[in-house]
Amino acid sequence: MGVRCMRKSNCLKKKLIFLLIIIGVVEVFLLIFLFQSSREKNHLIVSFLDIGQGDSTLIRTPRNHTILIDAGPTGTVVQKLGKALPFYDRTIDLAIITHPQTDHFAGFLDVAERYAIKQLITSDIPYSSPEWEAFTKKVSEFHIPVSFVSSQRTMILEDGVSLELLWPISMAVDTLHLPDANEGSVVALLRYGEHEFLFTGDISADTESQLLANNLIPDIDVLKVAHHGSKTSSSKEFITQAQPEIAVIMVGRDNSFGHPNARTLLTLNQAGSVVYRTDIDGDVTFASDGRTYALRTHFIGEF
Ligand SMILES: [Zn+2]
Repeated sequence: MGVRCMRKSNCLKKKLIFLLIIIGVVEVFLLIFLFQSSREKNHLIVSFLDIGQGDSTLIRTPRNHTILIDAGPTGTVVQKLGKALPFYDRTIDLAIITHPQTDHFAGFLDVAERYAIKQLITSDIPYSSPEWEAFTKKVSEFHIPVSFVSSQRTMILEDGVSLELLWPISMAVDTLHLPDANEGSVVALLRYGEHEFLFTGDISADTESQLLANNLIPDIDVLKVAHHGSKTSSSKEFITQAQPEIAVIMVGRDNSFGHPNARTLLTLNQAGSVVYRTDIDGDVTFASDGRTYALRTHFIGEF
């Protein structure tokens, strides 16, 4: 590789440009290297995003796999992803839509425009709305592979990190005639070392009791409280079994639903759970090494 030229002055100019290009390329690689090095190795990062009245949780694994569970009601989630992920990372390895209601999926309309979604998992609950139709159109336009949760299965995200899909199971969907989309929410358990994070979408106490009856709920560390802390969820039995050390409520400021409900807060308090709320604490981020974790509020960057 070199610079060929006829006249001396031209040659000097070309050499200078060549040198500047080389310096530029080296700088870019150095920046990428520094960005990667600044990230603590072997940490699982889980960020409950403050995106208004809705749910969105970003998971980054120690080997940089990116999972987004729900995307909130608007494109706000894209700004959050821009802050949390390196500028060159435009891939969502796995997207999960717990159920097809706008406060959980509508943000994916913008996410799909800016990020390559490699795989999408959702609930097979029948649902129809103009937004959902627009989204499903986009899914086929971008050729995003979709699969539905119809039985329990465990996904190994990478060595040491697994995601258990616990709900819905087709038997329950068929026999229980689930009354609404909330009950068909995907429920997922993320495990890394000694830590368990449980994501519950908008399930109510009926589904919680089904999960308990099937012995699917272990003692966990962090709970994404179901249905924005509504009174229809977080039964005493469910919380007593799960025993979450930390409970995160994803809820909009001054929302018109009155979420979270005072009774839910009391149940969590009585179980000894420390409660964080996105309307008060902003983004709530955990960094786990599998044995201990650090927690920061109003924060989605690297620890
Ligand atoms: Zn919701």
